[in-house]
Amino acid sequence: MDTTMSEGFIRRVRQFLPKSRGDKVAFAFLVVCIHLIFYFEQFRVLPEIYHQPCLASYLHTAFMVFVYINTVGNLFMMMNVDTTTGSHVLPSVLKPGWHFCASCEANSPPRSFHCWECSTCVLKRIHHCTFTGNCAAWANERYYMVFLLYMSVGAVYTNVMNFDYVWDVMGGLNMKSFLTMLAPLVMWLAGAAKAHTFFVSLMSMICLIGGAFSLILFYFHTKLTLMNRTVFEFNKRIGDYDLGWRQNLEQAFGTRWPWVWLFPLLPSPLPGNGLEFPVSSDVSEAVKDM
Ligand SMILES: [Zn+2]
Ligand SMILES: [Zn+2]
Repeated sequence: MDTTMSEGFIRRVRQFLPKSRGDKVAFAFLVVCIHLIFYFEQFRVLPEIYHQPCLASYLHTAFMVFVYINTVGNLFMMMNVDTTTGSHVLPSVLKPGWHFCASCEANSPPRSFHCWECSTCVLKRIHHCTFTGNCAAWANERYYMVFLLYMSVGAVYTNVMNFDYVWDVMGGLNMKSFLTMLAPLVMWLAGAAKAHTFFVSLMSMICLIGGAFSLILFYFHTKLTLMNRTVFEFNKRIGDYDLGWRQNLEQAFGTRWPWVWLFPLLPSPLPGNGLEFPVSSDVSEAVKDM
């Protein structure tokens, strides 16, 4: 690898990985939790439900692997896609709707904002996600949304799967089980819960809290996507880019929007270039002209 290539590679990795300390901790926590939960469900919970391998247990494993691949794959793609204005040739004159970013010392297109965590202007910046250490934006909205979808699917699935097993390990519904669920570490250190019970209650709490968080986040971002709004536009009640749900989905997920949930590498080209966006008045004018 020559110097230019290695410098380019290092720059790319730095851009990919979370930058701030808070983001790094949140990202590490997310990655550890995803893998711990997969291990827990596949090797602890499933063998307790199906004592012998059978068709049903194989179907569960296939489903878990599918959810896992889509969760991790979309997370990787979300972080790997270049969301910045840097890859575009930006005009030197300020066009209508554009603004000058003093930090980047460049003109920035409509809907883009400077992200202080990513230290750059981001195209159609939806918001900065601490757990992925990157902005959800024009170029990676598809991956971010499908990642949230599978986090939510996984959350519902794991909590349903865990229910009987966790209460069984806890010893049924009683005050001790309740306290162990609330504070597993304290109960373990106090000698009131065994190491195995501590691990199971900890995993169960991660599934419950992480699941609730994923579902709330997925609900909120689905609403934004269906209205074609960023968090800023949602807060300011800016609805200029709302083209109707079908076109909004195409704007976010690309031309193959009905199929992007299947696999993160399925190609689905985005309409436009991230610098200019059709507005709802354009669509109503086009309908009038027909
Ligand atoms: Zn900027
Ligand atoms: Zn950011």
